[in-house]
Amino acid sequence: MGKMKASTSINSSTGAEAGAGAGTRGSGGTRGSGESCGKPCGENYFGHLQDKMRQLEEANYKLRARLGKIEREWRYYESMRVRYEREIKKLQTELEKLSSPPLIVGTVVERIEGTDGAEADNRVVVRSSTGPRFVVTYAPQLVDPRELAPGAQVGMSQQSLAVVSVLPSAKDPSVHGMEVIETPCVDYKMIGGLREQVEEVREVVELPLTAPERFERVGVVPPKAVLLTGLPGTGKTLLAKAVANRTSATFIRVVGSELVQKYIGEGARLVRELFALAKEKAPSILFIDELDAVAARRTEDGTSGEREVQRTMLQLLAEIDGFDPRGEVRIIGATNRPDILDPALLRPGRFDRVIEIPVPDREARLEIFRIHTHKAGMKLEKGVNFENLAALTENATGAEIKAISTEAGMLAVKRNKSAVGTAEFVHAIKKILGEEQRSCLGLSAKSKEMGVMFA
Ligand code: ATP
Repeated sequence: MGKMKASTSINSSTGAEAGAGAGTRGSGGTRGSGESCGKPCGENYFGHLQDKMRQLEEANYKLRARLGKIEREWRYYESMRVRYEREIKKLQTELEKLSSPPLIVGTVVERIEGTDGAEADNRVVVRSSTGPRFVVTYAPQLVDPRELAPGAQVGMSQQSLAVVSVLPSAKDPSVHGMEVIETPCVDYKMIGGLREQVEEVREVVELPLTAPERFERVGVVPPKAVLLTGLPGTGKTLLAKAVANRTSATFIRVVGSELVQKYIGEGARLVRELFALAKEKAPSILFIDELDAVAARRTEDGTSGEREVQRTMLQLLAEIDGFDPRGEVRIIGATNRPDILDPALLRPGRFDRVIEIPVPDREARLEIFRIHTHKAGMKLEKGVNFENLAALTENATGAEIKAISTEAGMLAVKRNKSAVGTAEFVHAIKKILGEEQRSCLGLSAKSKEMGVMFA
């Protein structure tokens, strides 16, 4: 637009020039004679032309500057266009991914091979997660045939059931909510009370890993598995982690309910994979929490869900039976409900050592308070008396005492104090242990009296 305007003005000035030229030609003789005719002539006319040229040069300069600016702008908008196009492509691919239909999960049973050993039409036998087996094809562009080993988990298209992707190994702990800690940073010193229990666990779990020769020398086979029983929060997991730390073993924790799956055979497969993982990571401690979820006493209600739980438990028993007691994997089970466990699980050769983890007594509570406050680096006011705190928290578990300590700390932070005092602990006990404990300890609505008690 600017360009066009400029060229019009150039043309118009050139036209004026031409007109002037014609005038010059028409009255050449007169001007040559230097006579005044009222029109620009001679030197005047030359000056006039120079002016015009200057004007034109100026206009030309301005136009060039404008052109440069427009070109720069064009380059900028072009680069923006390329950027936005790229962005659109990226978003489109993401959208395609999100809108693509879900895949069916299956397990490869076997690859079908041709008579001369060559693969026959890229086909595999796959068992779908719902049970039936299918002979399906796979796209070599999407799937590496070497990854289609029996047992591999694959994603299959819903329409053709063709294998379109190989899923990450099911042994991958994150897939099934297992917790794997290379060496937990929990020491025996971090356990309050439980002296006998710690000793017993050390004998049964720690010694076979750290000094197996002692068992060989005497010709004794160490117990295969240990069962820890006790109320929630009494320190069963803590104890198992401490043993794993002492033996530098990998700690693998799985919750029993995670092993109960919806589809037939899935739970049993998980148990197999769990033990395979434990062997792979040896020396390791396999900690099965909430064992009752998978190993409750068998009933005859005949539901398919019940049968699936039983299948999972039978697989667990089979794995424990086929286990080398002198190997580098130890099994620790934990439950709050030992009364409902299937007796088959507790027979000799399986979980044959049962260790009861009690609710901490006064002495143990005192130690646990110390562990979670002073030893954990909490700053305390001078008057804090752990004896009194232990007396006030009768029947509290280790987890509750930990929660009380944390709550007291939080309260001190809220009150902008530099150390935790008795008042915060009393408040935290009330909050964590609830009304029942308060009334039982005569704490309700008498906070002032409590202050006196601790003074
Ligand atoms: P659940 O049966 O619910 O799994 P649990 O018996 O395994 O519970 P833990 O997870 O070991 O309980 O304990 C919870 C927390 O309570 C621990 O992380 C620890 O901080 C604290 N705790 C429990 N018992 C003790 C103890 N004896 N000494 C020190 N801390 C303890």
